[in-house]
Amino acid sequence: MLPRYRVDFEHQQSQVGVKASSSFQVPKNVWKFLWALPIPPKLRHFWWRACNNLLASKVNLYRRRCATEALCPICHKESESVEHLLCGCAWTRAVWFGNSLSIPLVEGSIASIQQWTCEVYKAIADKHDRVDYVCKMIWLAWHIWKSRNNYVFNHLPIDPVATEKSFCESARHSIQSPLPSSLSSPAQDAPRTWSPSLPGRFKVNCDVAIKPGSLSAYMAVLIRDSEGYLMDGVVRMEEVGSVMQGEASAIRWACLVIRDLNLSQVEIVSDNKEVIRLCVSEDAPPWKCAPIIEDIRSLANLCNLSFLWTPRLANEAAHWTARAFLKGVLPSNWMRHHPEGLCKALASS
Ligand SMILES: [Zn+2]
Repeated sequence: MLPRYRVDFEHQQSQVGVKASSSFQVPKNVWKFLWALPIPPKLRHFWWRACNNLLASKVNLYRRRCATEALCPICHKESESVEHLLCGCAWTRAVWFGNSLSIPLVEGSIASIQQWTCEVYKAIADKHDRVDYVCKMIWLAWHIWKSRNNYVFNHLPIDPVATEKSFCESARHSIQSPLPSSLSSPAQDAPRTWSPSLPGRFKVNCDVAIKPGSLSAYMAVLIRDSEGYLMDGVVRMEEVGSVMQGEASAIRWACLVIRDLNLSQVEIVSDNKEVIRLCVSEDAPPWKCAPIIEDIRSLANLCNLSFLWTPRLANEAAHWTARAFLKGVLPSNWMRHHPEGLCKALASS
């Protein structure tokens, strides 16, 4: 059982309403600590976005004119800031209190996720306890975020007990044996041949072929189920500014296809190491690709997507489709009757 730590909530309450990232900066040593936590990279990235007020909350969408109102879609009482979404809404407070962390939050007590993270970091002197506590804090916030998204996008009811249960499962496995970090070091962990997704989930392979002497990008996106069957596939051509922009654009398009199909927890696979690295990190992308990478990062959060780099050979089916489309030999009914080349590529990868 973890010791309980008191954080100076009164001090934070005086700052309710202050924009999370406007006046407070997370010190470098705290970032260093956060990036070294034994949690999956998508969780570190999620917490970085939460700390920087970058999650797609209603307030943030409203600011960007992507939503008609900023009100919390669950309680309909407060604006849905990142802080309200993760720890202010009544149901989230029940979750924070009802588990081994037992954090007694009162409405509006967390004015900034950044500052809260730093307060917790300072309050726990013991290194091991600190890692354990902050990992659990991030896992719990992640499950709250997922439950909230399931409510908003999939109309699943909010269930604090179920959220807490999923948190307990993940935290137990994660803290005792860190999850594989294939996203942060794709080159070492990626499989050499196509590997299926977990049962009930989908894997999306994408690739792009650039027409020689031009910047016409011929893209292919293939959706395969956990058995490896090709469920759907789409191709499109787009003029791009560079080869890398074309690769990034294909991944963004894959994200949009997944969003439109209302799928979630999908793994997007590409053989472009650099673009996959940019999708899963917070690094600043080259300016030509920056808006595309930003879109991908937002869509990844919105639809719970993960990304994986794979060698060319394991991405053969998407590669074959993009090449055939470029050469003009992809029949219009290629999804209904797979051409021989595609069958071979599907079988080999
Ligand atoms: Zn609410």
